[in-house]
Amino acid sequence: MSRGTRTTEELPVVNPATGELITTVPAADADTVAAAAQRAQRVFDSGVWSRRAPRERAAVLLRLADLMERDAEILARMDSEDAGKPITECRMGDVPGAVESIRWFAEAADKVFGQLAPTGYDSLGMVSREPVGVAAAILPWNYPLAMAAWKVGPALAAGNSLLLKPAEATPRSTLHLAALAAEAGLPDGVLTVLPGYGPVTGTALARDPLVRALSFTGSSATGRRILTAAAETNFKRVSLEMGGKSPQVLMADALDYGDELIENMVEAAFLTMGQNCTAGSRVLVHRAIADEVLARFTAAAGALRVGDPGKAETRIGPLINAAAWDRVASAVEEARSAGARIHTAGLPTGPHPKGAYYPPTVITKAAEDSRVVTQELFGPVVTVQTFSTEEEAVRLANTTEYGLAASVWTRDLDVALRLAREIEAGVVSVNAYSEGDITTPFGGWKQSGFGGAEKSTSAFEQWTREKTVWIRTR
Ligand code: NAD
Repeated sequence: MSRGTRTTEELPVVNPATGELITTVPAADADTVAAAAQRAQRVFDSGVWSRRAPRERAAVLLRLADLMERDAEILARMDSEDAGKPITECRMGDVPGAVESIRWFAEAADKVFGQLAPTGYDSLGMVSREPVGVAAAILPWNYPLAMAAWKVGPALAAGNSLLLKPAEATPRSTLHLAALAAEAGLPDGVLTVLPGYGPVTGTALARDPLVRALSFTGSSATGRRILTAAAETNFKRVSLEMGGKSPQVLMADALDYGDELIENMVEAAFLTMGQNCTAGSRVLVHRAIADEVLARFTAAAGALRVGDPGKAETRIGPLINAAAWDRVASAVEEARSAGARIHTAGLPTGPHPKGAYYPPTVITKAAEDSRVVTQELFGPVVTVQTFSTEEEAVRLANTTEYGLAASVWTRDLDVALRLAREIEAGVVSVNAYSEGDITTPFGGWKQSGFGGAEKSTSAFEQWTREKTVWIRTR
């Protein structure tokens, strides 16, 4: 929590489904960030956390995971209410995933070793991995707790002091996480949550000279600003996880997977209303099965229960705000007037008075260079394009500037492996829509990612620095 910090502004937390004010939290200004960084540095230097045996750090983090499990429903409700996410997604996905992340990195704390370099007989080269010191993370609003856990787990397991900035809309679960960390026995000042506005709090973190590493998840536009700020100040190590326009590639035999395929396609496209960095927002389907896939996919999308995100049966809640609705609607309208076909349960006429609801929307015949095909819309909108050959599928898959995720559906192992190799993305899943689990790295290619992956032991590279100790033995 932002203990002992000064603030000048209040940040309103509004339920996107109802427009109601849930609470306000203090927004950290530039002075607050500077003071928090200085405190984090003092705590790091004291060794109270950074020099504890990794096994002892693990014990605290394992207690944190237990406490998150105890408060799972509270955390799920916070993310559902703040972000408008269907509660079932938070209960089944976000919160258990966050608990698993903290637990996995806790257990890894004492299992990531340095190396002994294969030097000549008269010397030893020891390479150790050490914490960076004061680290920072800036989070998006679409997976508030889950993204926090991906960063808190490895950053704290490695021994850093961490400054954590949640997105404007979704600070509550991150603040609760910090309270649970304190309850678990994390020393004061090791984890400081700094809610606030991106251009103020985020910029201050990106420019702070004490922050040695910054891990960001959010849009490519913001990522670029952060990288520039870091270059202009202290060359802090920056890693960026950004947007995507991920293809779902369906080869001619994909319908062998039947309903499983359709369900996966729907989940890939419409989870969190498509406000998901790995959303499978471009379906690329072999011409031979295109009509049947379109009919089944459109029917399944139209059948998704739209409504109150607090209800267990709801699959589609509101978009995060009216500006998001406008962005999505204008891109769809632009495509429609350029000749694309819109397949949807009914064209929306405007944001719902109580929440920016937008229906699951499937688009065909959109031009290859149209916004709906090339840009991340961050909404429940999917384009369907057809192809006849494997080469054409690869070309279409790789046309955008993004390279976060992709899925490939086929029974033919040779084809699957060839496509997995050819598609430019950090994660390619075969016959599934998946980012893998906590044991596998997650990071984008091209403009989707920069500077190191999250999850798995790879994550420690973001949060540690290598040191060589060279020893002459005779
Ligand atoms: P955003 O870039 O608007 O904001 C992300 C965070 O950056 C927020 O905390 C915001 O306050 C902060 N910020 C804004 N301006 C800043 C600045 N000038 N300096 C420093 N910080 C600043 O993104 P968003 O709308 O919250 O999230 C949606 C985006 O996040 C999408 O593009 C999505 O694809 C991406 N995302 C990526 C992943 C991934 O792992 N690759 C995961 C989730 C979301």
